[in-house]
Amino acid sequence: MGVAGTFKCENGHEFFARSGSLLHATQYRCDRCDRVKMVELPSLVEVMTGDVSRPKPPGRCICGGTFKTELSPKCPTCGSRETECVKVKALED
Ligand SMILES: [Zn+2]
Ligand SMILES: [Zn+2]
Repeated sequence: MGVAGTFKCENGHEFFARSGSLLHATQYRCDRCDRVKMVELPSLVEVMTGDVSRPKPPGRCICGGTFKTELSPKCPTCGSRETECVKVKALED
C-alpha cells in the first residue's frame, strides 16, 4: 500500500511526497538524492504459468547513491529522513 500526501520532517518542514510500494511494483528510493524508482513485480498470470523473471533491484543511481526499499521520504529543505506523513491525500493500491 502506498501513501501520497503531506509529510513533515523533524524540523517542521512540510512537503509533498509519496511513500511505500504499490501492489504491482516495489518502490526504491536513492539514499542520496531521494530519486524514486519503481520496479514492477511479475503479474499473477506470469506467476501462475511459471514464466517469471525475477524483478531486479535497480542498482545504483546516477548520482552514485544506492536504491533502497523502505526509506522514508527525504525532506527537500534540510535533507532529514526523520519524516512522517501528517496528511494523507491518496492511498494507492
Ligand atoms: Zn541518487
Ligand atoms: Zn526539513
